[in-house]
Amino acid sequence: MSVNRDFTSEVAVVGGGPAGSVCAIALKAAGVDALLIAPPAQPDHRTTALLSGSVTALQTLGAWQSCLPQAAPLKKLRIVDDTRRLFRAPEVSFDAREIGLDTFGYNIENRHLLTALEARAAALKLPRIAAPALAITPDADGVAIDHAGGKTRVRLAVGADGARSLARAAAGIATRRRSYPQVALTLNLTHARPHDDTSTEFHTESGPFTLVPLPGRRSSLVCVLEPARAADLVALSDAALSAEIERRAHSLLGTMCVEPGRGVFPLAIETADAFARARIALVGEAAHVVPPIGAQGLNLGLRDCATLAEIVADARRQNLDIGAPDVLAGYDRQRRADVTTRTVAVDVLNRSLLAGFLPAHGARGLSLYLVDRIGPLRRALMREGITPAASQPRLMRGEML
Ligand SMILES: Cc1cc2nc3c(=O)[nH]c(=O)nc-3n(C[C@H](O)[C@H](O)[C@H](O)COP(=O)(O)OP(=O)(O)OC[C@H]3O[C@@H](n4cnc5c(N)ncnc54)[C@H](O)[C@@H]3O)c2cc1C
Repeated sequence: MSVNRDFTSEVAVVGGGPAGSVCAIALKAAGVDALLIAPPAQPDHRTTALLSGSVTALQTLGAWQSCLPQAAPLKKLRIVDDTRRLFRAPEVSFDAREIGLDTFGYNIENRHLLTALEARAAALKLPRIAAPALAITPDADGVAIDHAGGKTRVRLAVGADGARSLARAAAGIATRRRSYPQVALTLNLTHARPHDDTSTEFHTESGPFTLVPLPGRRSSLVCVLEPARAADLVALSDAALSAEIERRAHSLLGTMCVEPGRGVFPLAIETADAFARARIALVGEAAHVVPPIGAQGLNLGLRDCATLAEIVADARRQNLDIGAPDVLAGYDRQRRADVTTRTVAVDVLNRSLLAGFLPAHGARGLSLYLVDRIGPLRRALMREGITPAASQPRLMRGEML
């Protein structure tokens, strides 16, 4: 479809977090006249475990090469039941080689991921307005976006503007939200012993305590716990906090030393009632927020981006209006099952840990016991975790759009 003089571009992606950046790069790489409306990134010390499909998509888009030196492979995943309950699960360990892979994926600091994406966007000459969208107004033929630099008019707007999405509100899309009585404390640390490319998740009564490898003798920590307890930990000196984390990790990685930068994130599930409406499609946390358990959030978000870019590229080839209701309905349909199954799985796991209900502990212990003992079940679970049956867009399979 050609862009006539009424339109500044065909598509504007609002928000330059990892989801928005990848979506804009994918659209541009597919030959779509795309524009990114994104203020400069805020400091973020968090890390993201990118599962293999996400890594393949970034490779296909030419963004992975600059990520690789900063990323640590995840070759093994270990789950340790660290509750003091009557029914405790056996320790379960998954090795990527069991399903014919070298790694399940890679862990990378968000700042390095965003730097690599910015470099790729610049190489593709992706236009960027480095200011927030101030108002987004859809009408029958297009979407008008007001920003500090003026007004932009496009056929399709992509809302990649995070959990408090202006784009989602502009499309009139409501969300369903459930808050948990937990927060995630995040920080990065160095340790005396090697992690052997193994991510370890201790299941505790207050939630998972997960150490994920970074390059060298470094790891990132996501510790899910009660808000008051997190506030106590955040108030500790570096030395005291390092000692407390080493204690909670049962000295698995030896002496620990926390790096500057501590974050506390409230835990919630939030899902948009529709993933697209009124010429606005939602990707990433604008569409769905899941707790940081099992590395699902951005991996889901990147599947949104790959799916949407594929649908837009296909619609263009057929000379269709890329913002038309049936095109956007196709996007909503394709993302629904993946988002729902992941959200339910994370919710069930988290609630089974929190429940003071004996049968829930028994069911969780039994499930992990069966997963540990039954090879085909283990492998099916690993494959589903890496390549979900409900969603395998072309970019995730290494094919360009
Ligand atoms: C502690 C923690 C650990 C996590 N670990 C993992 C993990 O290991 N693996 C995983 O897959 N996921 C993980 N996640 C989830 C992952 O961080 C999120 O899914 C991801 O950051 C969402 O990216 P996003 O681009 O959708 O949103 P965001 O990162 O929130 O980006 C939104 C962007 O939009 C911009 N914006 C907002 N309003 C406007 C506006 N009006 N105009 C223009 N721009 C705007 C913001 O400035 C921001 O840059 C974790 C989450 C947490 C909290």
